[in-house]
Amino acid sequence: MINAIYPGSFDPITNGHLDIINRTRKLYNKLFIVINENINKKTFFSIEERKQLVEECVKGMDNVEVVITNKLTVEVCKELNAQVIIRGLRMVSDFEYELQMSSFNRILDSDVETIFIMADHNYSFLSSSSVKEIVLFGGNISQFVPKNVELALRQKIKS
Ligand code: ADP
Repeated sequence: MINAIYPGSFDPITNGHLDIINRTRKLYNKLFIVINENINKKTFFSIEERKQLVEECVKGMDNVEVVITNKLTVEVCKELNAQVIIRGLRMVSDFEYELQMSSFNRILDSDVETIFIMADHNYSFLSSSSVKEIVLFGGNISQFVPKNVELALRQKIKS
């Protein structure tokens, strides 16, 4: 029984993230979506807001669970009994950072393997930051994020 974690900021979750979740949840016994509370990174949504948005999106996916953490990814794997870290790869520009992170994680715990999933061609340009930028300029983001996220983004910029 192999469990996996899919860590990230999810600020906010996009259709690209959801595509990775839908594709990988079929491969593992359990998939934990791990939302990082990175105090060095200023986020648009609070950790609780991000968790709620992800939870609304994965409702009904019975082997998917959402967790919040401020710990090292390999520590989270140990706690959740997960052997695999899932990361998505979009452009070549993702590669350098992901290579660095996966190398660090392997040094920290060689029992944990990072598995990369290539982004669907429809989402390979899509990032949480581009969605936030578009919404700030009043653009239409309905094709990039689920409805609940679109509403939350619009609500946020109003307040
Ligand atoms: P982080 O700050 O850890 O990069 P993100 O929420 O931006 O957190 O991304 C989490 C993971 O999801 C990363 O592996 C990232 O490459 C992947 N990802 C982000 N957007 C997409 C997308 N459109 N398609 C596929 N993977 C994506």
